[in-house]
Amino acid sequence: MISAVLPTYNRAPLAFVSGEGSWLLAEDGQRYLDLGAGIAVNALGHAHPALVQTLTEQAAKLWHVSNVYRIPEQERLAAMLVEKTFADTVFFTNSGTETAELAIKMARKYHYENGQPERTEIIAFEGAFHGRSTGAIAAAGSEKMVKGYGPLMPGFTHLPWGDEAALKAALTEGTCAVMIEPIQGEGGIRTAGDAFLKTLRSLCDQTGALLILDEVQSGMGRTGRLFAHEWAGITPDIMMVAKGIGGGFPLGALLATERAAKGMTAGSHGSTYGGNPLGCAVGAKVTELVSDPAFLAEVARKSALFRQGLEALVAAHPQVFEAVRGEGLMLGLKCRALNTDLVKAGYAAGVLTVGAADNVVRLLPALNIPDEDIAEALTRLDRAAAATPKAA
Ligand SMILES: *Cc1c(COP(=O)(O)O)cnc(C)c1O
Repeated sequence: MISAVLPTYNRAPLAFVSGEGSWLLAEDGQRYLDLGAGIAVNALGHAHPALVQTLTEQAAKLWHVSNVYRIPEQERLAAMLVEKTFADTVFFTNSGTETAELAIKMARKYHYENGQPERTEIIAFEGAFHGRSTGAIAAAGSEKMVKGYGPLMPGFTHLPWGDEAALKAALTEGTCAVMIEPIQGEGGIRTAGDAFLKTLRSLCDQTGALLILDEVQSGMGRTGRLFAHEWAGITPDIMMVAKGIGGGFPLGALLATERAAKGMTAGSHGSTYGGNPLGCAVGAKVTELVSDPAFLAEVARKSALFRQGLEALVAAHPQVFEAVRGEGLMLGLKCRALNTDLVKAGYAAGVLTVGAADNVVRLLPALNIPDEDIAEALTRLDRAAAATPKAA
């Protein structure tokens, strides 16, 4: 008999009742060190006092009003994001998937408005993840995500990850846009690299294609800069943001330049919940805290500390691990053993990690994880690695 909850997840037999910082308390009284952070969502850990205060104060005042009215909390967060990024304008959503939908619509509308309605083809990459809507799965294109869901939204070309020659051949004056994660998350913590992103930016400039960066996982301080593309010294035309921006409250944002947003006039797009006062009040507090240069410097310092320990862990368990990957606190352990076995051994060792494609285990801790919790994480990961069945 089917479970009351639609069985689309292969769930671990763990249920949590409360959280504090980087720790989760399970129903059975066990404490777990959380290196998954809700898949890069709980950017400031669980039950951060400033976020709890912001949420409860706003909850006592006003939760929701329609976007047919002005929403001052939304205007304030949009102004903050415009001030801190390349963007001139922001649309708020409830999830990353919805930002993918708007990114696709906005890019196509841009060329339509410019008198080139035939420019609809969007280039994306193998191993990508942009969400679960019919548009977002068509954008990602993997067999696993699209099988059985056809007919798919047409207009996507998929290139091998990091293949500059394929990109140069595919990107033409007929291309609508390129959609890419600066660091693939679900794809296995695979970095595009600064040189590739620079080449991509200049090819987009030459052809007039728009550059859409999916920073849903890599953004909001995760790499030690507010957004990962800042390391490459480039800016996108359109950027997808979600996960960390709400710190656990469902919130997404689509950021764009004025030029790219050309076709998005009144009535061209909308959302019932997107940008409501409750979500935007929390999002503004998260943005204020994570965009502080001192906070970002701490992310970079913690990353170096964690990474050094992880390199030693990999060296100590050569039959379990191959290498450490990633940037900032968006890290991956490329495994020789089965990544799923390591994640499972982590449960027994009281440490939570998340699997990814390419046989990688992801480490996406709260950005404010204390140094002593990093040390404890390394101890527990070492215990988990020792208990992981070795590669055959
Ligand atoms: C999680 C994720 C999405 C989808 O976000 P949802 O909030 O689950 O819809 C899109 N892109 C990337 C890179 C992601 O990591």
